[in-house]
Amino acid sequence: MKVLIADDDPVSRRLLEVTLGNFGYETVLAADGAEALSLAQQDDSPRLLVLDWVMPQMDGIEVCRRIRRFGQESYFYIILLTVKGRQNEIVEGFDAGADDYITKPFDLLELKARLRAGRRILQLQEQLLSSRDQLRFEASHDAQTNLFNHGAVVDILHKEVLRSHRERTPLGVIMVDLDRFKSINDRHGHMAGDAVLKEVAKRLQSSVRPYDSVGRYGGEEFIVIAPGCGPERCQALAERLRDCIQAEAIPHHANSISITASLGVSCVTGTTNADNLLRSADEALYKAKMEGRNRVVTNSTQFASQT
Ligand code: GH3
Ligand code: MG
Ligand code: MG
Repeated sequence: MKVLIADDDPVSRRLLEVTLGNFGYETVLAADGAEALSLAQQDDSPRLLVLDWVMPQMDGIEVCRRIRRFGQESYFYIILLTVKGRQNEIVEGFDAGADDYITKPFDLLELKARLRAGRRILQLQEQLLSSRDQLRFEASHDAQTNLFNHGAVVDILHKEVLRSHRERTPLGVIMVDLDRFKSINDRHGHMAGDAVLKEVAKRLQSSVRPYDSVGRYGGEEFIVIAPGCGPERCQALAERLRDCIQAEAIPHHANSISITASLGVSCVTGTTNADNLLRSADEALYKAKMEGRNRVVTNSTQFASQT
């Protein structure tokens, strides 16, 4: 683990550098408070800080205060190291946001133990953040395909519709439904069906732009939200998606499974809301099924009424 050492006294700084190095820490050095603060603002800055109190330009207490104002999720564990050891000074240090306090001259073993306590807190906090991120991911993603789940993708659509109205930019929605998917389950088994769903999800995801969103809308139904795409571009995107699904058969054990999809496209117009947009893409999808499957249909009724 990296530790940031801030001390204006070169001898003291060198002593800390060697001591912490012997404890197994990687050290980053600052000669005053301003330098410490600027190092702490860098992306991969150390999270464990040993700050001298009295330093030119900006003292350790001020560095503490400013770091606590960062409001970052990832925590900084701050140990103040100083000759100031009176009770009111210690309280002032904690009030400024320090986590721990060691008076100089320090005892090596005590410093080692306090650094270990800091490291433990930082590791616990990291674990908490990563469990929270994992939970967030699970709540918004479909476990089978790793795409956004129904709730998440509808949420995204609502936000994108608002944005498209506000910024007067086009927005397209594409509903994708695999053709005769039931027969794949019937012929090759449910596991093969699952493998096909996973592969289709992967192909869809890798065929869109980074700011498009792909979700699993239901069983073998997917939805693609394409901000900035009007009817023509959306139709072209849908054709590309149709093609990436059918282009290559999907291998599963000894089988090679061919699959096609029908796609319904709809785009935002003046007053469309998310529900209308979904309904309109669904109508287009239904039409694509009726017209023989493995095709794209764009719902143009709403565009016609605009002119
Ligand atoms: P169509 O071309 O009209 O869309 O025909 P289809 O067979 O694709 O449509 P239908 O709605 O009749 O059947 C959908 C099938 O998808 C039925 C269901 O068992 C299957 N399915 C839904 N979710 C999953 C899943 O997670 N895994 C597997 N293996 N099958 C699923
Ligand atoms: Mg289907
Ligand atoms: Mg379906």
